Amino acid sequence: MSEISRMLEKIEKDKVKFIRLQFSDIQGQIKNVAIPAMQAEKALTQGISFDGSSIEGFARIEESDMLLRPDHSTYTVLPWRPEEARVARFICDVHRPDGTPFEGDPRYILKKTLAEAAEMGYTFNTGPELEFFLFKMINGEPSVEFQDHGGYFDLAPTDLAENVRRDIILALTDMGFEIEASHHEVAESQHEIDFKYGDALKTADNVVTFRFATKTIALLNNLHATFMAKPVYGINGSGMHVNCSLFKDGKNAFFDPDAPLQLSKVSQHFIAGVLNHAKSITRVANPTVNSYKRLVPGYEAPVYIAWSASNRTALVRVPAPRGNSTRIELRSPDPTCNPYLTFASILAAGIEGIKNEIEPPADASKNIFHMTEAERQQAHIDTLPGDLITANRHFMEDDLLCSTCGKHVTEGLNSIAEMEWDSYRTAVHPWEVEQYLTRY
Ligand code: ADP
Ligand code: MG
Ligand code: MG
Ligand code: MG
Ligand code: MG
Repeated sequence: MSEISRMLEKIEKDKVKFIRLQFSDIQGQIKNVAIPAMQAEKALTQGISFDGSSIEGFARIEESDMLLRPDHSTYTVLPWRPEEARVARFICDVHRPDGTPFEGDPRYILKKTLAEAAEMGYTFNTGPELEFFLFKMINGEPSVEFQDHGGYFDLAPTDLAENVRRDIILALTDMGFEIEASHHEVAESQHEIDFKYGDALKTADNVVTFRFATKTIALLNNLHATFMAKPVYGINGSGMHVNCSLFKDGKNAFFDPDAPLQLSKVSQHFIAGVLNHAKSITRVANPTVNSYKRLVPGYEAPVYIAWSASNRTALVRVPAPRGNSTRIELRSPDPTCNPYLTFASILAAGIEGIKNEIEPPADASKNIFHMTEAERQQAHIDTLPGDLITANRHFMEDDLLCSTCGKHVTEGLNSIAEMEWDSYRTAVHPWEVEQYLTRY
């Protein structure tokens, strides 16, 4: 039996009536076209066409015909939809009508970068830790009112969200996730659910699905889940630490039992590459104006460009486990990022470090936040960009990241950053009114 007939049989057996064909726009937001199950065969054999010009940062009017090609391995039933008329989804690749991949598709950009690493014999694994807030819905509208006042690792009854978190985990498990842990985070109403790392493409698909499922389940519990980086001033923001490792011939290439700290040369070069491109990666990993309100001193988010095997304040941390769990953790990304572009950027930077055998600076074993400005200067510790437009400038000047993202996406990212920054820069914020209205 062919792959396609097997898939069709599965769709029928699952009593699926509707199929959602999903893909991501340049900002990593899910877009989808729903088709009745009757159209499944056509979708799986020829693909389904759609008008790309109506999608943010996608295609121009004159080249708007696009084709969605479902990736069979991403098939899953949406567990919260009615059982009588099941809904399933596929994540799709976006192609041009002639069958060539569309270079504006973030999934394609990650695939292309993974293929470059594969040529060197490497598989890239990522394990993201998404944090999010659960806020009350008030009169049918999302608010920033806390749903609970729990703290790190608290249990019920302070942790009212326990039930919601369980529902989210059950739904994700139904969809094929292997959940490793979940806990209440540091801030009120803030949570983290960790799932098992895997191949970066599958993991990027998982990130998109995770956000979508979490928001849906929260809403079914009359709550609003937000992945916004810093929804409330004065408390921790939400991050998406990205744990990364390279495997070669089934072995973790970051592990070397005989090297200092048991970190292989490959891992050292990878860290060096990531640090070298840290400022421009920020544009991709922290894509909103609000992202930069998380990247400030005094919380757990990184600010300084350094790495460490021992302290949690560094941008790149090497968690303690070794052997096949050897990994580096990039702590700057936040969960508003496009995971495809973020993983592609990290990988491209790391691979460049390996190819050029770049050595990282010394391990910043001291808490960098406690160093004086002079001490940091002496140790050559630079800082991440402080706002979106500065990060965007670094990105636009970074040939490696621009070529990784390709012309189409690079131009799109640039114009989105300029537009958002301009709109933010010219808006009058409540802070200004509070400070100046009566003083002057
Ligand atoms: P933290 O101590 O930073 O809170 P967590 O335990 O919350 O870390 O999350 C660790 C993440 O790292 C998990 O998603 C896990 O699957 C992932 N991980 C474990 N081993 C690897 C590896 N070799 N490569 C990439 N990610 C990994
Ligand atoms: Mg964690
Ligand atoms: Mg943990
Ligand atoms: Mg956390
Ligand atoms: Mg972490």
